[in-house]
Amino acid sequence: MTKPILFSGIQPTGNIHLGNFLGALKNWVRLQNEGRYQCIYSIVDYHAMTVKFDPGKIAERIKETAIVLLAVGLDPQKSIIFVQSTVPEHTELAWIFNCLIPIAELERMHQFKEKSEQNKSDINAGLFTYPVLMAADILLYKSLFVPVGEDQKQHVELTRVIAKKFNNKFSAVFPEPETLLTNVPRVMSLAEPLKKMSKSLGDKHYIALTDSAEIVKKKIMSAVTDTGAGAKISPGVANLFSLLEETAGDPNIALELKTAQIRGQLKYIDLKQAVFEAVWQTILPIQKKIEEIKNQPSILAEVLISGTVKAQKIAQETMKEVKEKCGILPPKTAPISKLV
Ligand code: ADP
Repeated sequence: MTKPILFSGIQPTGNIHLGNFLGALKNWVRLQNEGRYQCIYSIVDYHAMTVKFDPGKIAERIKETAIVLLAVGLDPQKSIIFVQSTVPEHTELAWIFNCLIPIAELERMHQFKEKSEQNKSDINAGLFTYPVLMAADILLYKSLFVPVGEDQKQHVELTRVIAKKFNNKFSAVFPEPETLLTNVPRVMSLAEPLKKMSKSLGDKHYIALTDSAEIVKKKIMSAVTDTGAGAKISPGVANLFSLLEETAGDPNIALELKTAQIRGQLKYIDLKQAVFEAVWQTILPIQKKIEEIKNQPSILAEVLISGTVKAQKIAQETMKEVKEKCGILPPKTAPISKLV
């Protein structure tokens, strides 16, 4: 029996951070290694064009992202790893979906509202239809599962709406995929713990997987801890505890500090020191692996080319079926000359 398909993507926008890792990438690797799914992971470069985009840097960013994906443990023998723009069917299917989804559905998307706040001078149509391209990314492979952070959950819900609309209007082609969240689906900013960790907020808000020990320490030591405003446990402290729980090898470390916190004896400096040690032990092996892969550049090209070939095969089959159901592909038996 064929394995259920699972799809997810990451933008090549540089500085992959702990939020991306704990909210998504760690899960990608676990799901790949469980062996129950055919995992398809994409570096979604067309999505990156919806915000500030530097044509001189994108090739380098794609390369960096691919290196991190391999360094965290993705294995091209087990997963399909490829760059979105090398499979043109993504944008082709997105167009068809654009013609199905009411504008009002897209206007409800939280991420569009947030990102247009952050990019007031460039609220382009691509930013608005981003979730439609994401639906195409997922449905092109008839994916059943989508491991993402909580910020993408609404987009997966919209993907289900699009699948339903297509199936009702044309023919039952697409499944209605489900989100798979991690234990920490929303890692918060260190400097403003009411906002999600994101590189667009600025340097002090996130920990990049490639930050040096010195920088990681500085960022964690200056993390905000007192934004509770009456809450039992402040959002900043809660965030530090979830970072600790997810990165410390020994669960007793978090347990002891939690006990101290309940007894009112917790010193934030001890919590921060423990978080630093656990986070650093998590990212150090990834950094070592990144250096190893950087020394073997030919591997990267091989991985991405073979990923594209495998992805294209599935994508072309789906597009053929989609066009047939929409009535826009001439049947094989009718030569194009008869139509004109
Ligand atoms: P970013 O949101 O940083 O621009 P992407 O859109 O490429 O990055 O997201 C890659 C993955 O990382 C997505 O599955 C997204 O849900 C997840 N992710 C991003 N930020 C966080 C966060 N702060 N906490 C948990 N998951 C996150």
